[in-house]
Amino acid sequence: MGTRRNGAQTTLANRATLSGVGVHSGHAASVTLHPAEADSGIYFYRTNLDGGRDCEIPADYRHVSATDLCTTIGGSGASVATIEHVLATLRGMEIDNCMIEVDGPEVPVMDGSAEAFIDAIDQAGVETLSRARRYIKVKKTVRVELGSSYAEFRPHDCRRLEIEIDFANPLVGRQRYAADMTADSFRRDIGRARTFGFYSDVKNLWARGFALGASLDNAIVIAEDRVMNPEGLRYKDEFVRHKALDAVGDLALAGAPILGCYRSYRGGHKLNVMAVETLLADRDAWSLVEMPVRRESGHADLQAGVGVAAFGPEVS
Ligand SMILES: [Zn+2]
Repeated sequence: MGTRRNGAQTTLANRATLSGVGVHSGHAASVTLHPAEADSGIYFYRTNLDGGRDCEIPADYRHVSATDLCTTIGGSGASVATIEHVLATLRGMEIDNCMIEVDGPEVPVMDGSAEAFIDAIDQAGVETLSRARRYIKVKKTVRVELGSSYAEFRPHDCRRLEIEIDFANPLVGRQRYAADMTADSFRRDIGRARTFGFYSDVKNLWARGFALGASLDNAIVIAEDRVMNPEGLRYKDEFVRHKALDAVGDLALAGAPILGCYRSYRGGHKLNVMAVETLLADRDAWSLVEMPVRRESGHADLQAGVGVAAFGPEVS
């Protein structure tokens, strides 16, 4: 891996392929992460459609078609479900540009966490590009509510998460994860947290056509007062950490990393996407900024944002 220059955009040095099964559809699918040019962002390329068609779908909140249990993106008769963990990995590991090729209707769930995607990126390597990275900088607090849930973006000088869950089930209960996020903390503290579900819900999900590929190999399953997975939990508070992982993935649909604090209480995909929509709809609440590109290592570049006219002419 070459020298990472702070503030510069990145992509993958090589492509990487993963195969598995979709947790909701039960269908087998392969995902190939491809290098992409500077300023192309993250986008899906769905192949293997009826009639041998392919379709490009930007990883953009305006293309979200469903947020029931997972986040689904789609358009022109093509969609890709369960996009959140692969998107979280790219955003979490600071990969700005990537084409995610998927040959089926759903991204494979792998082990229910981001671990396999992290490994794939490690294997592919990261390449630094000559363009400066752009951030969405939060300038004022924006809040959304949904029943007893709420989420807000607040100004903050780096990428911060404050995620809180509150479940009636005593094994999950009330948990909170709050930390500034870096590529290292994503990998270490969030990336390995698996999705979870309650055994009592499984029959209901099956009846609705969901969770057809779910098993103890790709989800934590909770019976009344115990974890059914023989290996137990990977983190004591794995549940809230997984919610943090999902939030990173859904927030990636903003199209650029967000400099600010994202706080959610009893959140989920729907609330995350609503929060992104609401933030970006308020033109006084954010601006696009670039970081000065420097060659030294470390993460100290996150204080000094240089203001850029939103969607204005190229400045680099
Ligand atoms: Zn998830």
